[in-house]
Amino acid sequence: MTVYSHSRLSTFEQCRYKYKLKYIDKIPVPIEKSIEAHLGECVHAVLEYLYKNAINGKTLEMDEVIEKFSLVWAEKYSENMKIVRDLTEKDYFNKGVKFLIDYYLKHKPFQDGTIETEKRIWISLEKSFPHKIIGYIDRLVFNKKTGEYEIHDYKTANSLPNKEKFERDRQLALYSIAIKETYGREVPVLLKWHYLNYDLEITSKRTNEDLEKLKKEIIELIKRIEKTNEFPPQKSPLCDWCEYKPYCKAWGNSIPEEFVKKEKQGTIENIGTEKLKESFPTSSKYIVD
Ligand code: SF4
Repeated sequence: MTVYSHSRLSTFEQCRYKYKLKYIDKIPVPIEKSIEAHLGECVHAVLEYLYKNAINGKTLEMDEVIEKFSLVWAEKYSENMKIVRDLTEKDYFNKGVKFLIDYYLKHKPFQDGTIETEKRIWISLEKSFPHKIIGYIDRLVFNKKTGEYEIHDYKTANSLPNKEKFERDRQLALYSIAIKETYGREVPVLLKWHYLNYDLEITSKRTNEDLEKLKKEIIELIKRIEKTNEFPPQKSPLCDWCEYKPYCKAWGNSIPEEFVKKEKQGTIENIGTEKLKESFPTSSKYIVD
């Protein structure tokens, strides 16, 4: 059994070479994370803290939220971070502060029926299908007024996708499969994205038929991944944020000697036999998309 995640599936679709380095050969990354990933990670951690307090009946003051952000920023900070855009670390820190202030003012006192934060979920696609999907829901809400379960997802990216992208979004739709498995197939589930850079919330829904179709598509995609034995690099604008770019042959770089053997053997030895549980991807979850 191999454990897949939305991030893993997306990496395969984005660039097979990156997929091989990351998930098959498991080559350590030369760049720990991008500054965008750091910003996303810190904002998510603070919102989790905020709602954990709210669940316990405590509404944090705005000062406490910003102070927590400052602490988390310093704790998770790494010298080995990539800044692609023409901005400074301070600019990104200030962006995070602004995201949190806007969010705070809009949502205080945070009593919207939040049940859990950073909820880990497992999805079985089909009884006979051996592979599973793991995911983490930023925040799960039960809205007493509407009777709906709400899957909330925070986005710190600069880009705002068009409406069609939300109707096709795979990640939260997948998570709603897990919620229906837990609470019942007929419970209504609302998907909700918070685009913090735009102070904007976007919602969408899926029918049970949509979800059955999605399961089939993912099974087909995983079958394709398991059969793949060629992993060419696929250059794209996202390469600038790729943590493997310093090792990437498409950019005239190469893998350090100590990893070369592993890289050459990886497709033969490991494909389709990876049994280790995937740890939750840290950086790719927050990267610009
Ligand atoms: S730099 Fe681009 S082509 Fe190279 S591994 Fe990363 S995503 Fe793929």
